[in-house]
Amino acid sequence: YRPLAEIDPEVKNIIDKETWRQFTGLELIASENLTSQATMEANGSILTNKYSEGLPNARYYGGNEYIDELEELCRKRALVAFNLDPAKWGVNVQPYSGSTANFAALTALIQPQDRLMGLGLPDGGHLTHGYYTQKKKMTASSIYFQSFPYAITKDSNLIDYDALSSQAKIFKPKLIICGASAYPRDWDYAKLKEITIRDGAFLMCDMAHTSGLVAAQELNSPFDHCDVVTTTTHKTLRGPRAGLIFFRKDLSNSPDLEKRVNEAVFPACQGGPHNNTIAAVATALQQVAQPEFKAYAKQVVANARALAETLIGHGYKLQTNGTDNHLVLWDLRPIGLTGSKVEKICDLMGITINKNAVSGDASAQVPGGIRLGTSALTSRDMKEADIKLVGDFLHRAVQLSLLLQKEAGTKMLKDFVRVASKQEEGKVGHQQV
Ligand code: PLP
Repeated sequence: YRPLAEIDPEVKNIIDKETWRQFTGLELIASENLTSQATMEANGSILTNKYSEGLPNARYYGGNEYIDELEELCRKRALVAFNLDPAKWGVNVQPYSGSTANFAALTALIQPQDRLMGLGLPDGGHLTHGYYTQKKKMTASSIYFQSFPYAITKDSNLIDYDALSSQAKIFKPKLIICGASAYPRDWDYAKLKEITIRDGAFLMCDMAHTSGLVAAQELNSPFDHCDVVTTTTHKTLRGPRAGLIFFRKDLSNSPDLEKRVNEAVFPACQGGPHNNTIAAVATALQQVAQPEFKAYAKQVVANARALAETLIGHGYKLQTNGTDNHLVLWDLRPIGLTGSKVEKICDLMGITINKNAVSGDASAQVPGGIRLGTSALTSRDMKEADIKLVGDFLHRAVQLSLLLQKEAGTKMLKDFVRVASKQEEGKVGHQQV
């Protein structure tokens, strides 16, 4: 055994710099979180060495007695975390990520070129829910399937269930996908189920963003109405980077769904599972089942509400005027700023956010808003009062962006960037910026 610092100081140095960045800055990216040391220990373990194509007790490689035990444990914990009856629900814990979980779920549920409907990307949906543009089908979910996006309403910016219902009557999708990457409100799964029952379609929820909040019962449960539920494990769930696919075992119109999901993951879409990641998912799920996680999830939502109130208090416009979950969508267009400008200024201030499309954006290339999430800061034990302060910092960042926009191209902007760059190199202190 020789440590990383000795074998590869270059990579070690990059890891050290990133560690410093994560713990000295304010992490507000809604899809990120800070997983536990225990989860990272499992993720960095010797389990990375093992091949185990197949499922527990049905592998294509020998030496899998402990890996079988691990995968069974992870599956059991996944069902416990979401309070699911093992007679009614099963789970595949092998997907490498949310995107592969989603593509495997589509592979299991529908045939190539079948029709699907997902929330449009500009309205908060994800690439893997059938996204394409006028110019190009650039995602596998639109290349291999016929996709028609549904939308949010122009005024309330809530899911337009009525329009979705009428469109589904005409488009006749085989699958409707709910769940989103940038939607601050909860979902009406019962309403969606009515539509899919009427049209004989499957209902799938991709709860990647909100799964930690669903586990803690802070949000409606997609399991009450959906046939398949997918998730990433690294967002509000606070695990390593991976994906899960939950499937109903008791579907009368699809009794072989378990087999179809398992075969869609392997061999259709993936090879050998990443056993170190499965161990880390199992550890994260063990933590999700603790009362502390419930308190954490409650605080994530309380913090997101506090952030929304702070920004509204400063006079800003938020999409849907608030939030039910961990994220806030801030519409910057009324003050004449773009998301990328504010993202850049925040980066220089050590606040990490991401630009995001807001409803009615003229161009997807120039998003008019930013997305903010409270999962990571809540993992650092921040409460409402801390988050209010973060909201005040963001207000200052936006005011600074406005000032710099007025002075764009002038000495002031150049000076700002020069000082900030020096600060990044560690040459000057924060107080000089
Ligand atoms: N589904 C949703 C709703 C997401 O927001 C994301 C990523 O942000 C994914 C799927 C994809 O997950 P991954 O990046 O792990 O492939």
